Amino acid sequence: MRKIPVSEPYLQGNELQYVTDCIKTNWISSIGTYVTKFEKMFAEFCGTKYALATCNGTVSLHLALEAMGVKAGDEVIVPDLTFVATANVVTYVKAKPVFVDIDPITWTIDTKAMEKKITSRTKAVIPVHLYGHPANMDEIISICRKHKIKIIEDAAEAHGALYKGRRVGGLSDFGSFSFYGNKIITTGEGGMLVTNSKKLFLEAQILRNHGMSTKRKYWHPRIGYNYRMTNLQAAIGVAQMEHIDKVIKRKCEIADLYNKLLHNIPGITLPAQESWAKNVYWMYSILIDKKYGMSAQNLQKKLADNNIETRPFFFPLHKMPSYETKEKFPITDRIAKQGINLPSSPLLKDEEIEYIVKVIKNVGDKR
Ligand SMILES: *Cc1c(COP(=O)(O)O)cnc(C)c1O
Repeated sequence: MRKIPVSEPYLQGNELQYVTDCIKTNWISSIGTYVTKFEKMFAEFCGTKYALATCNGTVSLHLALEAMGVKAGDEVIVPDLTFVATANVVTYVKAKPVFVDIDPITWTIDTKAMEKKITSRTKAVIPVHLYGHPANMDEIISICRKHKIKIIEDAAEAHGALYKGRRVGGLSDFGSFSFYGNKIITTGEGGMLVTNSKKLFLEAQILRNHGMSTKRKYWHPRIGYNYRMTNLQAAIGVAQMEHIDKVIKRKCEIADLYNKLLHNIPGITLPAQESWAKNVYWMYSILIDKKYGMSAQNLQKKLADNNIETRPFFFPLHKMPSYETKEKFPITDRIAKQGINLPSSPLLKDEEIEYIVKVIKNVGDKR
């Protein structure tokens, strides 16, 4: 049996044909029809007016903060459990990331705890739709409106996830996506910002291209960046958009099968799907508690011995050397320790999932 990977890119469509087209026509850099086509397709997918392709999901978050004018001395609220990029971009603009504990069910930002962290310096919140489950956006939006705070959804892990029937990313001021190799769709490296605000879109567009005026070439009224996506990456992106629905459908089928096979094993908590949410299960994730009889870390080792690759959850941000604080985040601490991401590739076979569950059951029985 093959080593079962946590994730693998799904490149079974027109990817090669479109990349070949770029090379044959010489349009390999960041000007090209695939870039605009990818942006158009992605805006339609999210139901937003605008989309802006970038070279990865970290810089798209950075662009969003810059476009909103977040700067030194400001505070930006982020959940304690997320990939480190969500906090790092706040540091890039010399603002302070303020951490908030997570909700024990969805593992996304705890909205009550969030409101308590708002100060006169708070300029934005970056909720993260973690592992494919949407954050509770209505509550976040109503709190932020009240305090006049901007919102950037970090949707890097949640392409196509639904909040009350609407696709994430387009629910607030900005939505930011990643197309890294292990994400729901990929361009190798890549990112996308979506928004309904023309003003924010134009601002981010200028900043993406060295702050250059759109009316006067090589005139740079402000300092920007080279955060552009290449036509080669966008060519892959267009092909990926052609089958994104199929990939998401398979992710959900995989989750359904895991849920069916793993339910009622003592000590295992299955991933949530709130009544208002559609989880796209970027990573099918479970929690392992005492009743299982073995720690999540030891279960990961046993699975590795059986040719099954897994991932630990992210470490709490407040434990990172650059962000260490004495503040307490008990839910994040517990869930970060108990969580495992199981193989979630859209190319997984049902028999492979059955095998993974069998190993999890056997290990649990023999503890
Ligand atoms: C992947 C990811 C990012 C960063 O995306 P890159 O394309 O790797 O730069 C940001 N936030 C979250 C939550 C992610 O999972």
